[in-house]
Amino acid sequence: MAYPEKARKYNPLLPAEGRPSFSRDRPAAKIRSEEGSGLRIHLQERRPETTEVISFLFDLGGQPFEYRPGQYVSYQLDALAFPDPRGSGRHFTIASSPTENGILMFTTRMRGSGFKETLRRAPLGYELSIGIPAGRFVIPEGETCQHVFIAAGIGVTPFRSILRHAADSNNSINALMLYFNHAAADIVFRQELEGIARQIPTFSLIHVLSEPETNWRGERGKLDERLLRKYISNIDHFLYWISGPPSLVQAYKGLLKEIGVTDEAVRTDSFTGY
Ligand SMILES: Cc1cc2nc3c(=O)[nH]c(=O)nc-3n(C[C@H](O)[C@H](O)[C@H](O)COP(=O)(O)OP(=O)(O)OC[C@H]3O[C@@H](n4cnc5c(N)ncnc54)[C@H](O)[C@@H]3O)c2cc1C
Repeated sequence: MAYPEKARKYNPLLPAEGRPSFSRDRPAAKIRSEEGSGLRIHLQERRPETTEVISFLFDLGGQPFEYRPGQYVSYQLDALAFPDPRGSGRHFTIASSPTENGILMFTTRMRGSGFKETLRRAPLGYELSIGIPAGRFVIPEGETCQHVFIAAGIGVTPFRSILRHAADSNNSINALMLYFNHAAADIVFRQELEGIARQIPTFSLIHVLSEPETNWRGERGKLDERLLRKYISNIDHFLYWISGPPSLVQAYKGLLKEIGVTDEAVRTDSFTGY
């Protein structure tokens, strides 16, 4: 996939051009106000995950905030420290689990938008608003069927929440996860996911790389029928969950349809904006 010049040149480890301003002098268009929960949260930690991906952790300040693993929420900055034509609000899947008390986390690829750059440069303690959790990329309680999780790149975020929750609650989850990345260095939450796979015997994790490093011994390529049939003996017996950028979600959904998976057996989470 070719990135535009701006995205290719952006390096999240280098300071952004220009001086940030954390004053309120650059208010920008808000995302829909009916999504406001009235909750104000504070930046607690920035956790580098890969060279391009950062997790932002927020302190809920003891305020109750209920959500289900797999849901998303909107984040609204009071003002932008760097200009952003998309404005000062974004939606992100909640990558933390309800079992991680007192915090909220989202994980994102850093490619230089004013919104993300504002958060990357903000001081710890920086305050912002969040909306009401929403979304139906959620495994119903008591669900016992077998799942196939298909994550493309940053699309891993809802699965991190679902799996962290299952591991922390000692819930068995019957799932195979196919996690697609370019290279091993791009795999987000690798150690943690592999730890969960060791902890939950009914969960297996398969990494698939399209441009692997020379010493890679795992799966290579993209999602295709051969790969699915290698790990899934009866494709009709599973529920399929696909998460990632919209183009990949559509492509993977189309492929599942071609090999006979019905629409009813597929759940998708499209990261609009990529
Ligand atoms: C329900 C929902 C859940 C979401 N969950 C997440 C999540 O968990 N994590 C997450 O990161 N995002 C998630 N998103 C998407 C998120 O809201 C942003 O739209 C996305 O991260 C892009 O952010 P940005 O506009 O700040 O641009 P940046 O990511 O900073 O990118 C800046 C610019 O670089 C270019 N660019 C970036 N990536 C590419 C690419 N791959 N190819 C070509 N050009 C590119 C684009 O021009 C883009 O405008 C979710 C969206 C929805 C609707």
